[in-house]
Amino acid sequence: HKYVYDFAEGNRDLKDLLGGKGANLAEMTNLGLPVPPGFTITTEACRAYLATGREPDGLADQIAAHLAALEQAMGKRLGDPADPLLVSVRSGAKFSMPGMMETVLNVGLNDRSVAGLAQQADGNQRFAWDSYRRLIQMFGKTVCEVPGEEFEHALDEAKRAKGTTNDLDLDADDLRGLVDAYKKVFRKHTGRDFPQEPREQLDLAVRAVFDSWHAERAVLYRRQERIPADLGTAVNVCAMVFGNLGSDSGTGVAFTRDPASGAQGIYGDYLANAQGEDVVAGIRNTVPLQELERIDKRSYDELLDIMARLERHYLDLCDIEFTIERGKLWMLQTRVGKRTAAAAFVIAGQLVDEGLIDLDEAVHRVTGAQLAQLMFPRFQLDHDIQPVAKGIGASPGAAFGKVVFTSARAVELAGEGEKVILVRRETNPDDLHGMIAAQGILTSRGGKTSHAAVVARGMGKTCVSGADEIEVNVPAKRFTVAGRTVVEGDVVSIDGTTGKVYLGEVPVTPSEVVQYFEGTLDPEATDDALVHAVHRIMTHADQRRRLAVRTNADTGADAARARRFGAQGIGLCRTEHMFLGDRRELVERLILARTDQERENALAALLPLQRADFVDIFREMDGLPVTVRLIDPPLHEFLPPLEQLAVNVAVAQERGEDVAQEEALLAAVRRMHEENPMLGLRGVRLGLVIPGLFAMQVRAITEAAVECARAGVAARPEIMVPLVGAVQELETVRAEAEKIIAEVVGDAGVEVLIGTMIEVPRAALTAGQIAEAAQFFSFGTNDLTQMGWGFSRDDVEGAFFWRYLELGIFGISPFESIDRDGVGRLVRIAAEEGRAARPDLKLGVCGEHGGDPESVHFFHDVGLDYVSCSPFRVPVARLEAARAAI
Ligand code: PEP
Ligand code: MG
Repeated sequence: HKYVYDFAEGNRDLKDLLGGKGANLAEMTNLGLPVPPGFTITTEACRAYLATGREPDGLADQIAAHLAALEQAMGKRLGDPADPLLVSVRSGAKFSMPGMMETVLNVGLNDRSVAGLAQQADGNQRFAWDSYRRLIQMFGKTVCEVPGEEFEHALDEAKRAKGTTNDLDLDADDLRGLVDAYKKVFRKHTGRDFPQEPREQLDLAVRAVFDSWHAERAVLYRRQERIPADLGTAVNVCAMVFGNLGSDSGTGVAFTRDPASGAQGIYGDYLANAQGEDVVAGIRNTVPLQELERIDKRSYDELLDIMARLERHYLDLCDIEFTIERGKLWMLQTRVGKRTAAAAFVIAGQLVDEGLIDLDEAVHRVTGAQLAQLMFPRFQLDHDIQPVAKGIGASPGAAFGKVVFTSARAVELAGEGEKVILVRRETNPDDLHGMIAAQGILTSRGGKTSHAAVVARGMGKTCVSGADEIEVNVPAKRFTVAGRTVVEGDVVSIDGTTGKVYLGEVPVTPSEVVQYFEGTLDPEATDDALVHAVHRIMTHADQRRRLAVRTNADTGADAARARRFGAQGIGLCRTEHMFLGDRRELVERLILARTDQERENALAALLPLQRADFVDIFREMDGLPVTVRLIDPPLHEFLPPLEQLAVNVAVAQERGEDVAQEEALLAAVRRMHEENPMLGLRGVRLGLVIPGLFAMQVRAITEAAVECARAGVAARPEIMVPLVGAVQELETVRAEAEKIIAEVVGDAGVEVLIGTMIEVPRAALTAGQIAEAAQFFSFGTNDLTQMGWGFSRDDVEGAFFWRYLELGIFGISPFESIDRDGVGRLVRIAAEEGRAARPDLKLGVCGEHGGDPESVHFFHDVGLDYVSCSPFRVPVARLEAARAAI
């Protein structure tokens, strides 16, 4: 079995086997670029090792064979006392996990070969001993778990003895002494001497890289980034090249375009006389890559040439690590580089212009999540405002407000009309009210799946989590950061996209992408590269998608905005939303009516209001379908709260007031009170229980449509019955509705469809029967998820989902992204059986999932006709529908 590949044997498509780094090193090698020779041990070997606790048979021999080939290529032997070959041993998984796993450099150095290395380096003893002490330190820490501080202490001790604080002041003798000190540390912690045998060093380092797959921080990172836990890592063994051999050596990183804006140019940093680790450690300041032209023009020109070749080869932005050893350039790594959302669009557009990719490919180079990010308002950071801390961008947006440290204070100040930012070490379910009241949430602990992050995303609220430079002191109502103290009432600004935290109020600018969608920014008349790119990519996406995109809107204004954003109709108009505010009382009167007369009066009052609402919406959606859902009010949202009412009555009684009316109301509310309102008298059930309610709505819809038709507006109403679980429910409603429609329409030439939501599991499972009575289905995946999992949609996210995410029970809230295996299966069954019964059945989805990128792909695959989502999500759904189709 082949466990080891020479760099020349692999290619970039072998990431599963060779990891990202190994596959790209192989690709560069085969392009003829100057990559130091080496080989990659496969992820398969790692998986075998992790499963059995020992290296698979044959691995040792294969490493020996590849090492021999490497030695031959380099004309040196590993650890040879006279002229040693040294190697680096680095992890490299399929998905990049920056800083999560292990690296050991300078493998092959020992008490004898250190002299050979000095000789190789023109007698540079200091360099050789520094390399040796680095090996013992890295090897001790990563391979043998010697506490890193012990080495730090020894280094500090050496500097103190020398009277300096700078590593560079230590000379060869000091470093030789340090090597002795390090060896003692090593022996103390491992009970053995530092291994002198080069091959043993190599084998132990390889094993340490395998083991690092299970390191706690790596496990945590994978969970957060949803990287599968069973992939394993590859190990890259590569001939060492040295950037720290003097001023004609150095190391750097480069990007082929600006990863922040996408602009073309030369971006990167260079550090002379240093190794890569020094750049990361930030010991000395780097210079802009352009400076290299002055320092070493030949290497600079060669680097630019290679960068251009890499771009043409990968057809994308690449990032690069390189080292120059005495004027000779070496490529240590490349990959398709990470970039901001704006850069992703701009670069995709540029690559089309350059003829490197076509528009189909451009659509794949960007994501709905990136587009969504670009639609948030942003901080205007032109006058050099520096962040004071950086955490994790846990929930996007830009928010500022007065700092508060408790939920109670957040509620209190918000009640006074203040904007507040809730600052906590971490949040828990008790903080929910404060989170609702705040503009944003800032925590010093926790990652993307912490309670704060999960709940904030659910609420669409800006959140920065895990800003660990911030020291929060709740009892003292203050936090400290970068030597400054921020007390309650001070203003801070937080950026939920970048995770950056600023002191004071940073001005916010609206998104130009939203202005473009709104139609207030003409893509032909602006030189904004981002708007150009978005325009081109979205125009193409619309041509290529199969799924239509509708919107959920309850008012003419929302409908109009969604239409500007590209909505092709309304997929859900929630009529109960039309009765919030001052009209709530009318619904209350209707629900609590005790006589036919009371009820008819309430309905008569509602009819004209409803009709006017629908006229408004039909006008805005002229020519497009509008799905109006008959009222689905969970009763508790429309009745006065029972406890409050009981208290009011008791207090009034105490005062000796006349409470006959209030008592009657209280009795009625008691009668209607439900323990589980979401499973109670709502949806179609309410329509079947309260005579005339649905009839009034059907009449209002149809009359509005006829009125519009007479005025030359093409109204296309689709009446939708909520919460149906049995075909008999739908048939009952439909029979009554059809009579009214026929009567109202007369010869006005208006067509009104009647369909149902599929949001109760039983409806999904009896979809074949239900389709006989429905012209369309719209999946209510909010309720379908609620009832499919048995999760109360209003309670669980804050109560325990954070724990479920932490445990990996699911990777994302099933209310956010469709649970394909469970709830998704219900959708699939209903779609198939519904279509089998009625081939022209129209299928859509109007739950929140209709605007979620992952879910849109699922709905495309299942063969729905459209998705419907909130107006702001419409562009995201358009783009993802195209990405699913191409
Ligand atoms: C649903 O349940 O998915 C739905 C769209 O209806 P609502 O959210 O109003 O219950
Ligand atoms: Mg519902």
